[in-house]
Amino acid sequence: MALAHILGFPRIGAQRELKRAMEAFWRGDIDETALRATGSALRERHWQAQADAGLDFVTVGDFAWYDQIAGMLALLGAIPARFGVDPRQLTLTGYYALARGDQTHFAMEMTKWFDTNYHYLVPEWTPGLRFDGGVDWLFEEIAQAQALGHKVKVALTGPLTLLYQGKIKSSLTHKLDLLQPLVEGYRTLLARLKTCGVEWVQIDEPMLALELEQEWVAAFAPTYAALSEVAPSLLLATYFDEVSDHAALLRELPVAGVHLDLVRGAAQLPAFAADWPQDKVLSVGLIDGRNIWRADLDAALAVLQPLQAALGDRLWISASCSLLHVPVDLAQENQLDPELKSWLAFAMQKLDEIAVLKQAVNGQSAKAEVVSSVAASLSAARIAQAQRQASTRIHNRLVQQRLQTVTAAQAERGADFATRIVQQQARWELPAFPTTTIGSFPQTADIRKARAAYKRGEIGHLDYLARMREEIRLVVGKQEELGLDVLVHGEPERNDMVEYFGEQLWGYAFTSHGWVQSYGSRCVKPPLIYGDVYRPEAMTVGWSSFAQSLTDKPMKGMLTGPVTMLQWSFVRDDQPRATTALQIALALRDEVCDLERAGIGMIQIDEPAFREGLPLKARDWQAYLDWAVRAFRVTASGVADDTQIHTHMCYSEFNDILPWIAAMDADVITIETSRSDMELLDGFGRFNYPNDIGPGVYDIHSPRIPQVADMVRLMQKARGVLPDRQLWINPDCGLKTRNWPETYAALANMVSAARQLRATLPAAAQEGEPERRSKMA
Ligand code: GLN
Ligand code: ZN
Repeated sequence: MALAHILGFPRIGAQRELKRAMEAFWRGDIDETALRATGSALRERHWQAQADAGLDFVTVGDFAWYDQIAGMLALLGAIPARFGVDPRQLTLTGYYALARGDQTHFAMEMTKWFDTNYHYLVPEWTPGLRFDGGVDWLFEEIAQAQALGHKVKVALTGPLTLLYQGKIKSSLTHKLDLLQPLVEGYRTLLARLKTCGVEWVQIDEPMLALELEQEWVAAFAPTYAALSEVAPSLLLATYFDEVSDHAALLRELPVAGVHLDLVRGAAQLPAFAADWPQDKVLSVGLIDGRNIWRADLDAALAVLQPLQAALGDRLWISASCSLLHVPVDLAQENQLDPELKSWLAFAMQKLDEIAVLKQAVNGQSAKAEVVSSVAASLSAARIAQAQRQASTRIHNRLVQQRLQTVTAAQAERGADFATRIVQQQARWELPAFPTTTIGSFPQTADIRKARAAYKRGEIGHLDYLARMREEIRLVVGKQEELGLDVLVHGEPERNDMVEYFGEQLWGYAFTSHGWVQSYGSRCVKPPLIYGDVYRPEAMTVGWSSFAQSLTDKPMKGMLTGPVTMLQWSFVRDDQPRATTALQIALALRDEVCDLERAGIGMIQIDEPAFREGLPLKARDWQAYLDWAVRAFRVTASGVADDTQIHTHMCYSEFNDILPWIAAMDADVITIETSRSDMELLDGFGRFNYPNDIGPGVYDIHSPRIPQVADMVRLMQKARGVLPDRQLWINPDCGLKTRNWPETYAALANMVSAARQLRATLPAAAQEGEPERRSKMA
């Protein structure tokens, strides 16, 4: 008989209970006992859901008070020494200091977990770091689950992935130098789990989905030999991509089972299924843990049946990865229309899908009522699948036809950059080192209130328009007062840069409670792209042309780019992502052209998520970058040569993708560079990046007001890397999270910095000189 399990469940709670409790604890509104009670109630509820669905284990160890990697460090005792705490005495307050910093310590760094939008706390590796034991929280959770009568499987992050995902913080020469004490720590931990009566431990090693250096691959065999001597049965879990490069290694590894992601890595199955070792379980993830679509259960069964015949009870059925990356429960979505809802499955629904698959493959031995309920579930899934495929809401003939007619020329500007920039400079007569901002200005409580009131229907359309225009007038006025060169309207009408556009495009839908943990207590609610994307009418032209009417300075139109629109949404799984990206690009292209027609001569297309779309394996990068760059170019290329296209990307590493950044061919790119003290710019210099670039001169995440001298110094560094004629001056990112006094003071200093820099140039290259480009270095 095949078994069913999950790799992990979202811990935040269907009502975001954990978020609220955490934040109340941080504010001092509740004490540690109350916070712990919330956590314990959530675990109990989530285990019960797994048991009720008919899974064979409940998964313990997926819960975290902030982050599972920080939890793993607390469990092993590997708390960075700089916090000066005894890991065995760590309290929740002490744990939150790791995550959020306190009076005397800055927080641990945070970064994305593989290619997900989940952020983990980055382990800090230092020589002599200890792994010999920390908090007992996991053991308390196990006892809790056992007391509730559940059969427990414990989930842990594996030692190699933990080590790999951390960062060397001092004189350590190589991360692997810590492997030996780390393995000792895991041995102690695993041995203790065995004495608690735990039979199975799922040990996650998603790093195997990356392209690894040989020394890391070589570390697996000795590590797992050491662990398996003392551990309960180990199920080594891989996910997020295929791991067939390591098929031989995984067959031979002394573990009791291996889990494969058959959603991202469907093609890897043959490399494993043929002669799978007699002594190993094969766990297959067929339900998508990264997306919200109801599964095609017939297709999954077609994969499972031959596996069941070959493996019998060594077959385990699961989701591709932890369900952490999907919202909790579709049942709460009362606003979503029934048709769309019938196409979806959140974590709770995925438990049922896994259970149905298990019952269906184990069919022969089941009772009559089970057989008929399984048949009913399969048939309901089949009907939903068929309706989704045939639905007129998904297929829009106009969009399909247009996709067929996209030409290579539509992805090309009329002239090359060298020609365009001369025309643009003649049109705008910008001074050297032009100043601008990234788009948003402070989102005051008043603005948010007005937007919310409009959404609830409490104020009418014209009142809302008037209120937002008032804000735009204020923002434009302040920018003129400050003396900025290229202005923005401030984005008061936008709650979120993806949602704002998604709400105006066909093919997009929004949930009411579809929250997914992003980090700590922070959750995001990604929109769904379910159908062909179509723009029924202009989305931003009214705001931008109003803003332009208030000033003689150039007003930048402001759009979110196609890759970011895709990356920050749950994307349809019935066509390639590249196709969906191109549909969005065509919709945005029309917006770009409408803006141009309305007299907007500079248009910024934000792509902050461009880099994060990169596949896990470098060998897959080219394919992604090709369609992503093309989508951007299709968006941007419908305009005249003297219309200036800007793009903005932040918080990314660019060095390894510079040829593609250049291939996007935006006239101006603004990036975040202040936190690395301009080091991020070096790659652009070495690459001889040809187009204009605005390296961010101040960190918008800090309330600290940057001084003129700070920004001049950063720009002098930038001038050492790129010619003056290419350089703009701007903050790192949008200003919506800042307040007005800070913003005003910071921008005033930024404008002064630009003036100081201009004063160092020969006279002809200063203010308003049309030929600045030819006269400047
Ligand atoms: N235009 C957006 C803003 O200024 C860009 C935000 C971003 O890069 N994430 O807020
Ligand atoms: Zn940004």
